[in-house]
Amino acid sequence: MNNVWEEAKYNLRKAAEVMGMKEDLLVRLSTPMRFTEFTIPVRMDDGSRKIFMAYRSNHQDSTGPTKDGTRIKPDLTTEEIKALSLFMSIKHGIGNIPAGGGKGGIKADPSKMSEGEYERLIRGFIRKLKPKGAWVDVPGADIGTGKQAMAWMLDEYEQITGMHCPAAINDKPAILGIGGSKGGFEATGWGVAMCTVEASRELGLEPQKSTVVIQGFGQVGSITAKTLFDRGFKITAVSDINGAVFNDQGINIDGLVEHVQKTGTIKDFPGTDPMDAALLLEKECNILIPAAVQDVITADNAPRIRTKLIVEAANAPTTPEADRILEEKGIAVIPDVLANAGGCIVCDFERIQGLSGDYWDEEEVHRRLDKRMMTAYGEAKTVMDKKSISMRTAVWVNALKKIVEAMEIRGWS
Ligand code: NAD
Repeated sequence: MNNVWEEAKYNLRKAAEVMGMKEDLLVRLSTPMRFTEFTIPVRMDDGSRKIFMAYRSNHQDSTGPTKDGTRIKPDLTTEEIKALSLFMSIKHGIGNIPAGGGKGGIKADPSKMSEGEYERLIRGFIRKLKPKGAWVDVPGADIGTGKQAMAWMLDEYEQITGMHCPAAINDKPAILGIGGSKGGFEATGWGVAMCTVEASRELGLEPQKSTVVIQGFGQVGSITAKTLFDRGFKITAVSDINGAVFNDQGINIDGLVEHVQKTGTIKDFPGTDPMDAALLLEKECNILIPAAVQDVITADNAPRIRTKLIVEAANAPTTPEADRILEEKGIAVIPDVLANAGGCIVCDFERIQGLSGDYWDEEEVHRRLDKRMMTAYGEAKTVMDKKSISMRTAVWVNALKKIVEAMEIRGWS
């Protein structure tokens, strides 16, 4: 299985089976409630017009307005967008967030566009999508969209509607009048680290004696590394798109963060040795954190993985075939929809702050985030122990239970 949408539906069916979900509800959840495909014509700097394909998948809205991400990349697929919208339904369910699942995207390569072309693309996305606002569907950021893009989206939305509504768009900068939340940038990595701390405590792994290998040193990987490093964990190897480095005595993550700020890569960081990036996931460690891209732990490399715990910071890093192998090997897995839910929890905080006009400091955001992450973790653990199922299935069961309950009480089944 190497299609992320098929993999997402596989996890859905597996959880549905455990729950004894009614067939009509399973069919309903196996396809997005609404999938929109549209074109964005953009005037390029040379005067020509280029047409870009764009999408928005609204998975289900029984639990609230659909919410989240807008992914821009040249090889974007509709399956990817559908899968990510289903993941958002699950993440909102486990985070006890009153929202359904949404995901959008544009097939384009921002690195090949000028700033002006990119801005016109982003504004065109909102004009053509015509989002209906904070109580219906709320676009957020993902790969290819950062704070500037989300500020343009908000501005375009407010220009069209003629009113201020910061809660209509997520992942905005925390600037007066724009309505972003403090702590948003760190939220996902922080949540991954909190899950790692909790899971290692349960496995009896002491931070000072625990080695951690991290694939990907971007927004999520670097914050995860720094948070764990500050708590005494020994990060022994990291990689990025350019290569991998290791030091079995532990890498100085503060220094590495500075090195990446200066050079743009983890390569050649003093005090580390280079290693084959293709073998990083197979390096012996106590905790392995894939924080780069999907489908990196496969049936091919899973038999050679030597770790006690995998915390999935990336979305869908493990194929179902690999998952079965890891389970047989007794490796504990904290699944993506739980481990990386921190970002969408803070998006919910952003929406609450935008609707109320009451903005919180970073300390308050972290306090609330820790509580929500640990509640989500604890609920999943209870289901796992009660039903003797994997943590992945338990997380899906826990989220789907809430979604199904909302659907049934609304009379949808
Ligand atoms: P990012 O672009 O900031 O960083 C990605 C990192 O992975 C970079 O260091 C990049 O060099 C590296 N990378 C890319 N391809 C690689 C490869 N083949 N091998 C090794 N390294 C590679 O992205 P991010 O925001 O840190 O997101 C990382 C993952 O986490 C993605 O799967 C994303 O979908 C998921 N995620 C992110 C968030 C968030 O809030 N940013 C939330 C949920 C899930």
